Parts: sequence; C-alpha cells; structure tokens
Amino acid sequence: MIVELDSISKYYENEGIITRRDVLNEISIAINSGDALSIVGPSGSGKSTLLNILGTLDLPTSGIVKIKGKDIHDFNEKQLAEIRNNNIGFIFQLHHLLPQLTLIENVLVPTIPQKDKSIKKSAMERAMDLLDSVGLVDKIHQRPGQLSGGECQRATVVRALINEPNLVLADEPTGSLDQDSADQLGELLSDINKKYNVAMVIVTHSLDLAKKMDTIYKLDHGKLNVTISE
Ligand code: ADP
Repeated sequence: MIVELDSISKYYENEGIITRRDVLNEISIAINSGDALSIVGPSGSGKSTLLNILGTLDLPTSGIVKIKGKDIHDFNEKQLAEIRNNNIGFIFQLHHLLPQLTLIENVLVPTIPQKDKSIKKSAMERAMDLLDSVGLVDKIHQRPGQLSGGECQRATVVRALINEPNLVLADEPTGSLDQDSADQLGELLSDINKKYNVAMVIVTHSLDLAKKMDTIYKLDHGKLNVTISE
C-alpha cells in the first residue's frame, strides 16, 4: 500500500459568503505498487483536488490519508515534504522546467534535498539512463526554450522518476501537447508503469490517454466510480 484515502471529503467555503462547494464526498481508495489508473470526469468535478490530496499537496476537510500505512497527520510539514519527495513524482500540464537550467540540471533538481547518499550518487547515472529511454540523451545540455513541448514533457517524466518514487501522479500531462506528442507521452507513461512497477495515477480529459491505464475511474458529483477495468 502506497497511499490510502479513507472516506475523505473536501469542501471549499467562500469567505464572507454563506456558500459551500462540496467537491469530494467520502471517497475511499488505495493505491498499491504497480497500479495504473486514470481519473476522468467533467471540468470542475474535483479531479485535481483529488490528485493533490493523493499527493499530500492538499488536505481533505475530513477523512484519513495514509502513506505507507501511516496517517499523514502524524508528520510535520518538513517530514511530510521529505516523504513526498522520496515516494511521489509529479507531472503537471505545464512542464515547469526552470528556463535557466539545462535539461540534465532540471531533471536532477529533486535530488538536491535527497538525504539518501546512495540515491544521490547514482542520480546522474540514472538521469542519463532515463533521458536515453525517453529519447533525450543528445539534448541534455540544451535549455527548455530550445526544446519542443513534447520533449519538455518527456523531461518532466524523467524528473518525476529521478528519486525512484513508488507513485507518479500526473495532472493532465498531455493537456498542452499536439496529438502525436500526446500519444507518445501516453505510451511512455504506460511503459514506465510496467518497466519500473511504479504506480501511476493520471487525471485527464483524454479518453485515449485514460485507456492506457488498467483501470479508469470517473469522478462525478463527488463520488469515484470504476468505469472500465481490465
Ligand atoms: P477538475 O480538476 O476536475 O477540473 P478541480 O479539482 O480543479 O476540478 O476543482 C473542483 C472544484 O473546486 C471547482 O469548482 C473549483 O472551482 C473548486 N476549487 C478548487 N480549488 C479551490 C480553492 N482553492 N478554493 C475554492 N474553490 C476551489
């Protein structure tokens, strides 16, 4: 068990106005090693909110979030940041690569706070292997501005994997790519899930991308339902 949500709910209250927006309603889900799932649903249905809670970037209003069996309430912010950095890789719609750094420097950024010396030492080797497997090994000294959107997004996959996470969370990873680059990235994410047995949760509008995962969940009216399962 990597991450477990136990009956979590989330609502937002608008300050000063008596309105409450219920987004997630008593959702329970467990993500295990090697799982591959996607979450689809209408815009505004709470997909990003759910993904952020799975990644401990946001907290539910009620319910319990556990990482590797431990309630995250038992950790302080610093401990949680360390656990997150060691266990979870993130991919967002926009690549958020740092424009002043080269590709190799960018993908090594998450290793900076890494305390595990052996991981840190092997990070460069791992970065080169991963960049090779996503077809970017000859571009390592280029800056993001010199690369295509698809290439930048493939670099973010490497950055997400650099600390050997158990789980990768991707929020609309193909949202700003053309069809060919989106297809290529979808294949890459599916290959990575199988090759490294890293669990993967993808939030997407694209049914093509969603279908690349083993199970498709639909988020609707605050509830998460399985739509297709292999
Ligand atoms: P999705 O990813 O499915 O488009 P989101 O999780 O981004 O949906 O948002 C779900 C709902 O919660 C939306 O109605 C959105 O406006 C609202 N929401 C998200 N973040 C906040 C926030 N920080 N404050 C208030 N409302 C928010």
